[in-house]
Amino acid sequence: PVNQRNREVPVVPQGISRDDFLKALEELKGELGGENVEVNDQPLRDGWYMEHPNTHDMMTILDEEEFVAGAVVFPGSTEEVVKIVKWANRWLIPVFPISMGRNLGYGGAAPRVRGSVTIDLGKRMNKILDINPQDYTCLVEPGVSFYGLYDELGKRGLRDHMWVDTPDLGGGSIIGNTVDRGVGYTPYGDHWACHSGLEVVLPTGEVIRTGMGALTQGGENTWGVFPYGFGPYSDGIFSQSNFGIVTKMGMTLMPNPGGHESFMYTFPNEEDLGPLMEIIRPLRISTILENVAQLRHVTQAIAASGLPKSKFYSGTGTIPADIIHQAAAQTPVGDHTWAYYGMCYGHPHIRAYKLAIIDAEFNKIPGCRKINPSTIPEDEYFWSRDRIASGTPDIHELRWVNWAPNGAHIAFSPVSPIRGPDATKLFQLGKRIHEQYGIDFMPAFCVGLREMHLIVEIVFDRDDPEEKKRALGCLRDMVDEAAKKGYGEYRTHLVLMDQVAGTYAWNDGALGKFNERLKDALDPNGILAPGRCGIWGKRYRGRGWEM
Ligand code: ADP
Repeated sequence: PVNQRNREVPVVPQGISRDDFLKALEELKGELGGENVEVNDQPLRDGWYMEHPNTHDMMTILDEEEFVAGAVVFPGSTEEVVKIVKWANRWLIPVFPISMGRNLGYGGAAPRVRGSVTIDLGKRMNKILDINPQDYTCLVEPGVSFYGLYDELGKRGLRDHMWVDTPDLGGGSIIGNTVDRGVGYTPYGDHWACHSGLEVVLPTGEVIRTGMGALTQGGENTWGVFPYGFGPYSDGIFSQSNFGIVTKMGMTLMPNPGGHESFMYTFPNEEDLGPLMEIIRPLRISTILENVAQLRHVTQAIAASGLPKSKFYSGTGTIPADIIHQAAAQTPVGDHTWAYYGMCYGHPHIRAYKLAIIDAEFNKIPGCRKINPSTIPEDEYFWSRDRIASGTPDIHELRWVNWAPNGAHIAFSPVSPIRGPDATKLFQLGKRIHEQYGIDFMPAFCVGLREMHLIVEIVFDRDDPEEKKRALGCLRDMVDEAAKKGYGEYRTHLVLMDQVAGTYAWNDGALGKFNERLKDALDPNGILAPGRCGIWGKRYRGRGWEM
């Protein structure tokens, strides 16, 4: 849909006049070329995942005009990023870097401060600088997507040799996803843990390289194979932060394991969750379960078909359990409640060994069923999980957004140990609060290694302000209540960043204060992504920006 509302254009960030803002943009055009500076003076268009906007969050839970860019600029090199940052310091204009802006559910392309100038790095800085088949590494720029790297491996005949680990949706940037600490589903699913060395433009314009790339000469040789270099390991402060703009990143790739096999188990009752977690934990920590595996609730299995809720239920309020089970009868989940999607890697004899252990353990849950993949239709969600867990990017996951008309989604994603009582507590907390707000509950547990995230995606109609208000209320309550019980988010949407940062307040907010000290030292004018992850420079603090 097109937002037709009248608004003053361009959107000018607070603290600068309209004339000065336009003058500043003219100056920047002189540095980057007119075609690389776009004033955001058109009606907002949402597009869709593959043709997403870079001016705002196409799935916003607030009014679309809240988190919106004043202009978008397209640097073509690290040197041009430096120019932009120096320009922002001269004019005191907030800038917000994105790699590709497909961070759906967490803010998309939107800046946190209205009127910020979005630095769209991906459009022109999209080169794969190196692929090294001997070391299984690569070096990429911000505009390289999971699909892009996958395609390039294909072109070079390397796809049988090594795999790209991809998140649920493959259209995003490798750098964007990694710096936001996103995850994928092969044994290389922890993207941050798999990266090696960064090139970063600091908010005052200096360029640094971390890890081995910092060597005076020859750094390229070991950039991708050893992440730490010498001295303090500074990469961490450039993830989920606003301390620098990442312009290059080394990434490790997974050797083809010599075979792979997806498996699916279903379990009959909601109450099986606790005992199942007790079974999953030791298997996952010892990597018999080898990848970030997913345990999904039946409601989500129905939504993953891509059919709208109205197809199943025309009443008001949440969809009743009996209707869900009726609908599920037509899917591989059948009359069960939980579906576990996993993948086993290696040569057939290695897989057989591991799969036998998994089968014996899972069968300790009464009624457990192993679904034979050959009975699963080609278009089923199972095959999307199969592609993703074997390094093939996919976008099937988008389908459940159709659950609501004009569907959009936003996530609640608390971290917990892989323990029965924790899983049950979080499940009940989510279920209760969803019921309170009249929202369908679609939980999925993603089991990392020693921890799991409960991912609850709320699907809402982006054109329905009342529904958005309920979705946000539900999220805010879940964040607060989970925090009281000792659970914190691993990542969050722009709108919740202050709240989530506020839950990490041990010792009188010591970590937040430390981040503010770093922010003020590295970015004295507070120009870089103010407010991202709840970190505000001193120019913004105490002025009511937090929400
Ligand atoms: P993707 O397109 O991969 O889903 P985005 O480009 O939307 O990811 O990035 C997600 C978030 O991470 C952005 O909103 C931004 O705050 C941050 N980010 C992305 N790329 C960079 C970068 N190169 N340097 C610093 N921060 C970045």
